[in-house]
Amino acid sequence: MNADPVRLSRSGHSAIGVSFEFFPPKTEEMETALWEAVNRLAPLAPRFVSVTYGAGGTTRERTHNTVARIVRDTAIKPAAHLTCVAASRNEVDDVIRSYWSAGVRHIVALRGDPQGGIGTAFSAHPEGYQTSTALIEGIRKIGDFEVSVSAYPEKHPETATLDDDLDVLQAKVDAGATRAITQFFFENDHYLRFMDKVRARGINIPILPGIVPVQNFKQTASFARKTGASVPQWLADRFEGLDDDPATRRLIAASVAAEQVLDLVDHGVTDFHFYTMNRADLVYAICHLLGLRPQPVKESA
Ligand code: FAD
Repeated sequence: MNADPVRLSRSGHSAIGVSFEFFPPKTEEMETALWEAVNRLAPLAPRFVSVTYGAGGTTRERTHNTVARIVRDTAIKPAAHLTCVAASRNEVDDVIRSYWSAGVRHIVALRGDPQGGIGTAFSAHPEGYQTSTALIEGIRKIGDFEVSVSAYPEKHPETATLDDDLDVLQAKVDAGATRAITQFFFENDHYLRFMDKVRARGINIPILPGIVPVQNFKQTASFARKTGASVPQWLADRFEGLDDDPATRRLIAASVAAEQVLDLVDHGVTDFHFYTMNRADLVYAICHLLGLRPQPVKESA
């Protein structure tokens, strides 16, 4: 009998890189939870942490304040998400300049969801950036920002075909994007097949898989349906009957995410972006499994 080949995820030689996504807090209580999560995850030395921008620009100030505090109080590099929605070019340019002044050098540039909600038609502000591509060009004109963008292994719900989405990704790279972060997915085959197509197109930027630890199955499944990410039956089965059992749900969530990332490592993936939902414990445990250990926290410059 042949011995199993050594799994990359068990050989511990690959240099794993991680990044974490947070959302800006609404209340003091949420603010405390966010900073607890940031402080818990910071010693894992993420390549960057990103802060989302609320639908329709509703969190403009909160996103800015959160990102500015990360620059001020930590040694982590922040990335500020920014969308084109409901704002003129001048307004968006002011936000970009204010990031530059606050010392932020990385923006996640997005078109954003339609103001009427996912599933309604997108209509750009008449004086605004019309597409994510135009936004990237605007950002690059203002400063030498690093620009990350979205990618959709199961295609964006408004796009007709995955090929059309790849055209959009190519246009975003041509406009200056140097990294993409994917929508979350549960079947690794979606990501791996997508990557084959991306590379076959000659798109060579890093495309970080977006990993969502399932804190609450019903909520995640409902969000997934809106964003076009499929929820396999096996995943629903794993959470079946656990609605009133949060302790077991968390163990299952950790094991599902662990299985997913370790399988990706076995396929040669070394960089991961975690949607933390502002909670550290599951993500911390998964990073530990990936071989990350706390590093001495550097004082911010
Ligand atoms: P794009 O890649 O720009 O594509 C959107 C649609 O526009 C597609 O149908 C595409 O075909 C079309 N399109 C794009 N460029 C062109 C062009 N040049 N000409 C014609 N058509 C074009 N939303 C938020 O509100 N705030 C956030 O902080 C946020 N963060 C996100 C982070 C990640 C990693 C991801 C994956 C999504 C995030 N979103 C966020 C959601 C995102 O805003 C929505 O999915 C939105 O519907 C699309 O924006 P996009 O930049 O991802 O899309």
